[in-house]
Amino acid sequence: MTLDQFEEMMDSCVRCSKCKYIPQIAIKSQRFSHICPSIQYYNFHAYSGGGRMIMANAYHKGRIDWTPEMLDILYQCTNCGGCEVACKWVYDFEPNEVIHELRVKAIESGVGPMPAHRKYIELVERNNNPYGEPIEKRPAWLSDDIEVDDNSSTLYFVGCTAAYRREEIALSTARLLNVANESFSILGSDEICCGSPVYRVGDSKRAIDIMRDNIELFRERGIERIITSCAGCYNMLKTEYPRFIEHDFEIIHTSQLMGELLKDGRLKPTKEIPLKITYHDPCHLGRMSEPYELYEGEKVELLSQVYIWDPPKPIRQGTHGVYDAPRNVIRQLPGIEFIEMERIREYSYCCGAGAGCKSAYPDFALFAANERVDEAESTGAYALVSTCPFCKTNMQDALKTRRSPMVFYDLTELVLKSVDGGE
Ligand code: SF4
Ligand code: SF4
Repeated sequence: MTLDQFEEMMDSCVRCSKCKYIPQIAIKSQRFSHICPSIQYYNFHAYSGGGRMIMANAYHKGRIDWTPEMLDILYQCTNCGGCEVACKWVYDFEPNEVIHELRVKAIESGVGPMPAHRKYIELVERNNNPYGEPIEKRPAWLSDDIEVDDNSSTLYFVGCTAAYRREEIALSTARLLNVANESFSILGSDEICCGSPVYRVGDSKRAIDIMRDNIELFRERGIERIITSCAGCYNMLKTEYPRFIEHDFEIIHTSQLMGELLKDGRLKPTKEIPLKITYHDPCHLGRMSEPYELYEGEKVELLSQVYIWDPPKPIRQGTHGVYDAPRNVIRQLPGIEFIEMERIREYSYCCGAGAGCKSAYPDFALFAANERVDEAESTGAYALVSTCPFCKTNMQDALKTRRSPMVFYDLTELVLKSVDGGE
């Protein structure tokens, strides 16, 4: 898409600020009412979804030009999509999409992304991962006890963070698949980044090349089904790839797969884990994983200042993300006491790491993670559970900095502790 296509939307933003908070109907306390980590941290309207739409509109109409401050504001946003689901309660605008398009413009104009982003994009191009780790070390997490079937059409797409930074998640996933007798292949050192870190800072051109390379590789290997550990990989493969390149691979997140395996009795959670836990919905597994439907209808004036969309416009409200699968798995684990945080499902609060914020704005990323950990601790839970290695990295950093007694588990780690044949 282009900023042109959002012109009417940008013109229509009424500066109501609803995109800063979860919808009133879902607010449980003032303390945990924010949905936008950016406005909460920087505390000036420009740092909200609506504020960034005003900025994009002013740029689009030629009223302002790039400045270093403007670029910072543009990139001090985790692309978490919270503003969009909040706005949709009232106006159905897409600030997150507009922010993305302005980032695309920043790159086309040669001013974006930020230096930290340029550095990791170079690393993705050179080493196939944003961490700059050697290509041949990608499968180093694999231990001798794991059985991989090179001919399986089910691929475990490990992702850069699980492969190089959160190896324990890759291991627990592979072990669970072995316990359940679910055959899977991996791409090993041939696996390349899903493109999320590149795409999210607006480098669509390079991201589309990565998408093409990945799809070609999956086809070459005869892959039909792809399992992901990472919310970012899941979002890219499931939601963003089809916006540019059609594919018919089945994309499944580990939380969904565990649900299937538990239902079929191939995973049997028999070991009691006496633990009180809470669950964090990763934005890119939740609201951002809802398919994006490009709308090509038109706005028709029915009465004076009363408009309808013809044909009716689909509303992407985030409700169709992956929320039930992890919760259903958690509820089947004996001994676990599960308590929800205040901001859940499509109104989850971002961990703060996404869209290049962890690398370019680490203080902001840590603030958001701390905010989420505050909320998790307020439930009285002893463990914080989630389903994304990148969320784990950022929230563990927060737990460490504040010396919290709370522990963090990826859901696969918890399930492995509970099932017959697991740890
Ligand atoms: S983006 Fe939507 S919610 Fe935010 S200020 Fe504009 S109209 Fe209000
Ligand atoms: S995408 Fe998230 S961080 Fe960015 S403006 Fe919207 S709510 Fe705030």
